Amino acid sequence: MLLKNKIKNLKNILNSDNVLATLEERYCYSKDALNKALDSKIPDLVVFVENIPQIQKILKYANDHKIPIISRGAGTNMVGACSTPKGGIVLNFSKMNKILDINPNNMTMTVQPGVILNDIKESAEALNLFFPPDPSNYKVSTIGGAIAQSSGGAMAFKYGTTKDYVLSLKVITADGRILTLGANTHKDAVGYHLNQLMVGSEGTLAIIAEAVLKLIPKPSYKITVSAYFDSIHSLTQTVDEIISKNIYPSAIDFMDENSIKTVEKYCSCGLDTSKKYMLLIDLEGYEKDYKSQLNLLTEIINKYCVNNIQIAETEQESEKFWNARRVSYAATTRLAPDVISDDIIVPRQNLEKMINFCYETTTKYNLKICLVGHIGDGNLHPQIALDIDNEQEFKNYTNAKSEIYKKVIELGGTISAEHGIGVEKLSYIDKIIDKDTLEYMKLIKKAFDPNGILNPGKIFEMDK
Ligand SMILES: Cc1cc2nc3c(=O)[nH]c(=O)nc-3n(C[C@H](O)[C@H](O)[C@H](O)COP(=O)(O)OP(=O)(O)OC[C@H]3O[C@@H](n4cnc5c(N)ncnc54)[C@H](O)[C@@H]3O)c2cc1C
Repeated sequence: MLLKNKIKNLKNILNSDNVLATLEERYCYSKDALNKALDSKIPDLVVFVENIPQIQKILKYANDHKIPIISRGAGTNMVGACSTPKGGIVLNFSKMNKILDINPNNMTMTVQPGVILNDIKESAEALNLFFPPDPSNYKVSTIGGAIAQSSGGAMAFKYGTTKDYVLSLKVITADGRILTLGANTHKDAVGYHLNQLMVGSEGTLAIIAEAVLKLIPKPSYKITVSAYFDSIHSLTQTVDEIISKNIYPSAIDFMDENSIKTVEKYCSCGLDTSKKYMLLIDLEGYEKDYKSQLNLLTEIINKYCVNNIQIAETEQESEKFWNARRVSYAATTRLAPDVISDDIIVPRQNLEKMINFCYETTTKYNLKICLVGHIGDGNLHPQIALDIDNEQEFKNYTNAKSEIYKKVIELGGTISAEHGIGVEKLSYIDKIIDKDTLEYMKLIKKAFDPNGILNPGKIFEMDK
């Protein structure tokens, strides 16, 4: 707990309207979308920062007094990356939510960290430009969180993830210095790419105060194709054949039977609940090349699917399908008091084995699973609904998770494709990263944050 005089000093540094100090207010900031009863302390203070000099002052103070600093965007990460296991000061960026500049000619946008991804997308699209990163909750999550968590989404198949759109960052170091990392240009080969080091660093190396993002031309058409399959084998065969024929969809996603039923109960989206698997594919690009791609695509899907293919040609029709896919997490929360959504990834040739293993393991441990994912990338989201307070059920979940991760590694994959490590996967990091590499990561952390004040207890524990 921060001593009262320190809180007073901090309030003096800031406008007190921007500080939350009551127990009830602070409690709300001890958790995030992981929403798990962690051994988490409650933060000592929550500060709504408004500008860079304020961030610098808080960091200098925190560094001098060795107070933990936890950055927070919308708090929607799934791994407890914003939780406060060691107390400290939460920096809330919702007041730093301005788009500072759009340069259509250079195809760049300069933003503050609290800007919502959807605002970035809409502002780009108004100028016929495009910002592709699309975590399913892009209507609420912030760019600071997406950069710090290395967020992906459905469109990663064609366009890559947030990391591919970060050109330059202004960051504040633990001791309050401003660093400018990268350049405002689409190419940059000067020195170490410290801007990319910040991507996925989960607020443990520096605070992102400003970002210059890359934009690309907006594709002139988009269609969404959906079809149902009666086995995972026919679904994965379809995906493999589509990709091998050089068709290049922007997104290839799927939902399983439990997800289809759960989503349909939640919001009546018009999904066929009698079917086992649904495939969702977006084709985007330019008018001329899409017709031949679409013909070939439907030909392949028709060979394996069990219904008539549905094609959505308008934005509204397409949105109906994608909305069903995006609400699957929210729908799963209706099945039990808690849901933990994972984000494992394996090489595509091992997807079928991995999917079957997820089902076998959750059946063995009597757990409810809704499986969805960005199947074109080999990225699965097993969403497990459980009651964390039920000791046996939680033990079953922990055992199932360990076995699933073991299988992921055996199949040549990794334990996080896009959600990050936070506290949720911290105890598994040494299973996936070898000792020497981990040691280098810790050296980097020490160089940026010698006093260990930035989001301590996330990704890995520092050696004492
Ligand atoms: C329903 C749902 C669906 C989702 N679907 C996807 C998906 O499809 N793909 C995907 O990749 N993710 C997905 N996620 C996870 C989530 O969208 C991402 O992790 C998200 O981008 C985090 O944004 P945020 O603003 O909520 O960040 P937060 O959760 O607030 O923070 C995330 C991390 O960023 C750090 N941070 C925040 N701001 C800063 C800053 N200014 N400087 C330094 N560090 C900072 C925090 O300390 C924390 O470590 C989903 C989450 C939900 C709830």
